[in-house]
Amino acid sequence: MENLNWSELGFGYIKTDYNVRCYYRDGKWGELEVSSSEIINIHMAATCLHYGQESFEGLKAFRGKDGKIRVFRMDENAKRMQSSSRGIKMAELPVEMFEEAVRKVVKLNERFVPPYESGAALYIRPLMIGLGAQVGVKPAPEYMFMIFVTPVGPYFKGGFQPSKVCVLREYDRAAPNGTGTIKVGGNYAASLVAGEIAHSKGYAAVLYLDPKEKKYLDECGPANFFGIRGNSYITPQSHSILPSITNKSLQQLAEDMGLTVERRPVPFEEIATFDEAAECGTAAVIAPISQIDDLDENKSFVIAKDGKPGPVCEKLYHKLRAIQYGDEPDTYGWISIIE
Ligand SMILES: *Cc1c(COP(=O)(O)O)cnc(C)c1O
Repeated sequence: MENLNWSELGFGYIKTDYNVRCYYRDGKWGELEVSSSEIINIHMAATCLHYGQESFEGLKAFRGKDGKIRVFRMDENAKRMQSSSRGIKMAELPVEMFEEAVRKVVKLNERFVPPYESGAALYIRPLMIGLGAQVGVKPAPEYMFMIFVTPVGPYFKGGFQPSKVCVLREYDRAAPNGTGTIKVGGNYAASLVAGEIAHSKGYAAVLYLDPKEKKYLDECGPANFFGIRGNSYITPQSHSILPSITNKSLQQLAEDMGLTVERRPVPFEEIATFDEAAECGTAAVIAPISQIDDLDENKSFVIAKDGKPGPVCEKLYHKLRAIQYGDEPDTYGWISIIE
């Protein structure tokens, strides 16, 4: 793709050559199909359109200095999608089929994997929807799993920079025993109002508190939260947080750097004691937080006093990116090379 300005790309949609699809009918998954159409033709009474039987995933493929294409921890995405399926009564896709689909769709769209120097990547978007004509509320008789890909630019165009987030107690993204732990579109629909309020006030995201007591930290809209205090990596544990694969990986790296990892309920007031705080997820790896504004209580917690990312965030960020791009050895077995 000679004519694409890779490093200027945002997080948008650019048409690629192919997507892959697989249907679940009569109790079993069919063959993986390749399509060059961007359109899906479905029945107007499909359960995904009415009752939210939809889940998705997000992962990336990176081109290394050696030209090889690396995909990060796709087995984890496959397992998380199975957990989403169990959570909203959809068919479970075997891990091997998920991985085969990722390999195939990346390989077919190889020319859209950005060059190493650009800092860009190929975003991989798997999704599953309930199909079939059905008006009654019950699980769909059929499902479609598909993956499309689109190149995305580097998250930090002006360098690794922190941003502000806010707390809005009036809104929840998920119920205490609801669907917060699975990656379903419904959680995102539920987060749009609060997200728009936050953006209109100049915040990068909403930092949600636990929906039951509003006492503990949950996560930031589409990303997990962690704080650094002294030698500790502190990340919330709750019944309404989506288990981030980036967070899981950072916890491993933090431990190996000699930090103590604390995964536990984190009282909101504890943010005043953090040396560093950040959001983490596939899109940015780490998006450092400079300030947390409690808009209900009119209180401001400044985390990055100099407006710069902290040293631990900086180190973790570069370490994980180096593994993803193949600059450092993959000692954890996190990388699959696409050939
Ligand atoms: C996808 C997602 C994340 C990040 O997960 P990663 O696997 O690290 O990309 C965090 N929170 C929510 C709500 C998500 O949907």
